[in-house]
Amino acid sequence: EAWRPGDDDERRGATGPVRVRVPAKVNLHLGVGPLRRDGYHELNTVYHAISIYDELTARRGDTLTLTMEGEGTGELALDDSNLVIRAAHALAGYAGVMPHARLHLRKQIPLAGGLAGGSADAAATLVACDALWGTGLSRDELAGIAADLGSDVPFLIHGGTALGTGRGEAISPVLARPTSWHWVVAIADGGLSTPQAYRELDRLRETGAAGPALGSTDALLGALRQRDPRVLARTLGNDLQDAALSLRPSLATTLKAGEAAGALAGIVSGSGPTCVFLTADAADAERVAAELAAAEVCRQVRTAHGPVHGARIT
Ligand code: ATP
Repeated sequence: EAWRPGDDDERRGATGPVRVRVPAKVNLHLGVGPLRRDGYHELNTVYHAISIYDELTARRGDTLTLTMEGEGTGELALDDSNLVIRAAHALAGYAGVMPHARLHLRKQIPLAGGLAGGSADAAATLVACDALWGTGLSRDELAGIAADLGSDVPFLIHGGTALGTGRGEAISPVLARPTSWHWVVAIADGGLSTPQAYRELDRLRETGAAGPALGSTDALLGALRQRDPRVLARTLGNDLQDAALSLRPSLATTLKAGEAAGALAGIVSGSGPTCVFLTADAADAERVAAELAAAEVCRQVRTAHGPVHGARIT
């Protein structure tokens, strides 16, 4: 018999609203291996959670509803295709409860920006509804449901800096010194489709037009154990960058402008079109951000630091 939130057992689960904050991710290293038989590429990536957040609030309700404000409002469907709704159904199905909640999303992570905003929202929903419904799943159980929802979702529950293998869903934490890295984030007008970026990479590789694939993550992992952003800058890399640049040639101008503004290095984030720039420290990030904004090469410029926690109740 399914437990129904709000009626027979008020002691389980939260009675008040549950608010969860979840970060965006960048890939410090995104090594794209061969296309697998299941349609995914084998990945070797280092995820890094940065301080640009979406916030999901879950309240008790008689049905499942979703409202939103912020980035993507009016553009993003709030129906069963939304990753928030899919995550709520997945958790309820696993735990054997009714998927009843009033969910509200405050979005700052741009849509289809290469910052895994949709995956972040799915991660936030799992954490929020687990608390609202009192289902009390273990981290491993949540990670299992998360992996079925999307390759980046387990990392966004986890946060910090972590190695991702398989199609990105297999996470292991990276041992690093407790250092903060300071980023400037250039948010583009409009998004790029992740599947399209992978298809473009396959096409570039078939025609021999893709650059050499990244090697192992060893140099990057070594740099993360030091505190020198100049060392880290030399080890950032993204195999999808050529594909993103091929689909959106103007990103080359954005990358150049960031470096001209004094960033130590710039890369496309994931499948793009967001570009992220590593800077020397927080003050330097503010300077670079101001100069990049003045160059008018993107829709919005933000500063961020990382690593930060994954999806968490606030
Ligand atoms: P990634 O970096 O994981 O490839 P992304 O940051 O490029 O993802 P997202 O914003 O995560 O892109 O989502 C891509 C698509 O997923 C959107 O265009 C939209 O169609 C769909 N989607 C479903 N639910 C959501 C959601 N809650 N937020 C954003 N996108 C969603």
